[in-house]
Amino acid sequence: MSALAEALVAWYRAHGRHDLPWQRERTPYRVWVSEIMLQQTQVATVIPYYLRFIARFPDVTTLADAPLDEVLHHWSGLGYYARARNLHAAAQRLRNESGGVFPDSFAAIASLPGIGRSTAGAIIALSRGERFPILDGNVKRVLARRFGVAGPPNERAVEQRLWALADEHTPHADVAEYTQAIMDLGATVCVRSRPLCALCPLQADCNAHRTHRQHLIPAPRARSCAARRVREVVMLIAQRADGAVLLERRPAQGIWGGLWCLPEFATERAARGFAAAELQGAELAARALAPVPHAFTHFDLVITPLLARCRDDGERRVEVREGDRTLWYDMRAPVRVGLPAPVQQILASLT
Ligand code: SF4
Repeated sequence: MSALAEALVAWYRAHGRHDLPWQRERTPYRVWVSEIMLQQTQVATVIPYYLRFIARFPDVTTLADAPLDEVLHHWSGLGYYARARNLHAAAQRLRNESGGVFPDSFAAIASLPGIGRSTAGAIIALSRGERFPILDGNVKRVLARRFGVAGPPNERAVEQRLWALADEHTPHADVAEYTQAIMDLGATVCVRSRPLCALCPLQADCNAHRTHRQHLIPAPRARSCAARRVREVVMLIAQRADGAVLLERRPAQGIWGGLWCLPEFATERAARGFAAAELQGAELAARALAPVPHAFTHFDLVITPLLARCRDDGERRVEVREGDRTLWYDMRAPVRVGLPAPVQQILASLT
């Protein structure tokens, strides 16, 4: 075992996190779900989502048999919804091709939708203790700093160097502990800004610490220097007297793919035109409500909600079918569909 691996495992035994919900029963399925949820999302945020998800979808087949709407419902608020769509698609493939049994081989796992090299390695290392390196964002940061690998980690040459280091230092024994250790160190000690070097077991040999370059390594991602985009949309809150609100299913691809959203328009005029043409008898508010901002990774969205009081068309729906495009959503008895966080926020403000 390399000195780095030894130091990390010893640190993990004394200071690491040992009581996370996905550490209790480490089946490949549970590790898979947790690893996908933890992409781009903090542990504290993931825990309640993970517990609800596993309670409702305890195994591959249950997940595969569930409607996508319900899977997205359990993902609502976590963001990056392609992760949930891929989980569902992968579960259906496993159900259809192997009776719901999770595959053993790295190649078979890595071929599933939404699973890359690092996630496949983590699933095998954490659930079965077999030696596979991982390289998620936290591990990249630890290795880049420890070995002074400058340059943006999303550049091919930098990433190749980091994979080589990850492979070199992944031990043959205690792989699960080592894997959890390096992820934990990145999440709790070698954090993005102001790493806690005084608490770090790698400090004595750390290149970034010795050269005072923690703030420079890893370098920011290579991306264009264009200013952050702001996109403005109008969302129509078409509400009936009984409180139900009109929602539309978004296309499977793109932002909030497959989720249910308030009808969206480029301008207030277009929203008013839709209400006049499609919602007979709707009374539109004279003025829009206060804008609701929402930050995506690459741009900011500003939503202007516009309220329209609609006539009750009498439709009472208790479930959503696969091909449905619209839905009168009753907030007092909500059907289980996925809603984007700002839409949840707007709906909550109505009650
Ligand atoms: S010494 Fe500091 S910069 Fe180096 S690995 Fe540890 S926490 Fe990260």
